[in-house]
Amino acid sequence: MISGRPSGLRDTTCPGCGVTHDALAIINTDEPVQPEPGDVSLCIHCGEPSVFDDNLELREPTKAERAHLISHPALVDAMLEIKRLNGLL
Ligand SMILES: [Zn+2]
Repeated sequence: MISGRPSGLRDTTCPGCGVTHDALAIINTDEPVQPEPGDVSLCIHCGEPSVFDDNLELREPTKAERAHLISHPALVDAMLEIKRLNGLL
């Protein structure tokens, strides 16, 4: 896992709860990478997924994207764990 702020990435705002993120953790690689349009982010505050748009700002996933995302048990487990840790469940 890589944590921090990739160069050039501005603060992002969760479209689900409005919290501003000033860093991110990349969990599917140990290589330092930049987020790309279409990459998925989980908010550490509310646990909701969002998607990087063409300007690398976060937007809510479409219904089709959300249906695809929640078909991944590991992602749903992470969403639920964040919600549990933050007292949202
Ligand atoms: Zn959020």
